Amino acid sequence: MRSMKCKICKDKGLNHSADIRLPSHRLNLCKGHFISWVEKRVGETIKKYKMIRDTDKVLVAVSGGKDSLNLWNILHKLGYSADGFYVDLGIGDYSEKSKIYAKEFANAINRKLIVLNLKDELGTVEEVSKKLKRPPCSLCGMVKRYFFNKTARENGYNILATGHNLDDEVAVLFTNTIQWDIEYLKRQYPVLERRGKFIKKVKPMCRVSEFESAIYSFLNGIRYIKAECPLSHNASSLKTKMIISQIEEKIPSFKTSFYMNFLRKMYPLLQSQSSVKISDCKICGEPSVNEVCTFCKTANFFSQ
Ligand code: SF4
Ligand code: ZN
Ligand code: ZN
Repeated sequence: MRSMKCKICKDKGLNHSADIRLPSHRLNLCKGHFISWVEKRVGETIKKYKMIRDTDKVLVAVSGGKDSLNLWNILHKLGYSADGFYVDLGIGDYSEKSKIYAKEFANAINRKLIVLNLKDELGTVEEVSKKLKRPPCSLCGMVKRYFFNKTARENGYNILATGHNLDDEVAVLFTNTIQWDIEYLKRQYPVLERRGKFIKKVKPMCRVSEFESAIYSFLNGIRYIKAECPLSHNASSLKTKMIISQIEEKIPSFKTSFYMNFLRKMYPLLQSQSSVKISDCKICGEPSVNEVCTFCKTANFFSQ
């Protein structure tokens, strides 16, 4: 590494050593240029997929983890109006600590953080998943999606931004491709336009890898929850990510090329398929593909 030079410094006629090696981009950068490279990449993703206009009000789904806090930091630095939303899932120490990091960061950039306590709405993830005998992650995902959309819309935000990184997107794409799950593949895009009461959703970090995201938060001194969620033991996405990282070691840029080629070549073909119809849930009025939305069905079972 000592002999390697920062590519951007070199282009500017400077002679600074590189601190970070990015084999998938064939790029070596110094710390300062790595930070600006990540921010530029996110900014370009926002423009390329027409994610956010200057007049939009963005709500960032903040988990207290690195990706969502990095995203919030970058949107703030790029000058977008972005507040945060944290759902306290009631997962003991893990939720307590991640909430502290989310609040700490909101204070640092002087932006609003909306906090919703799941226990007040339904019960903790563990309580509900035990009673309904449903895996915690699928329940947790459903509940978060429900409240992200509802809270953003009810508080006057027109865009919901999530911190999904390249590794997250590739893992989901990998699984959906193995299962040829057309309905999910049809909706796997960095931006989902507004559909009725479903507000517009964007993933500006989708071209930043897990590794790049971890370095970015470290170099910026962003404090975040490093522990894995204690309920994630059997999360199959962790296994999938491990397999994908092994492929990436052998074939640098595999992740980017798998994902970007899907977006460029496959996604447009899938759009010719007809889409599922959305209507309002007859209990809560939130958007749903069925008469009663999954959240209301779950809440109904849980209260019995
Ligand atoms: Fe929720 Fe599962 Fe993530 Fe834990 S690992 S926060 S239960 S989705
Ligand atoms: Zn440099
Ligand atoms: Zn409902």
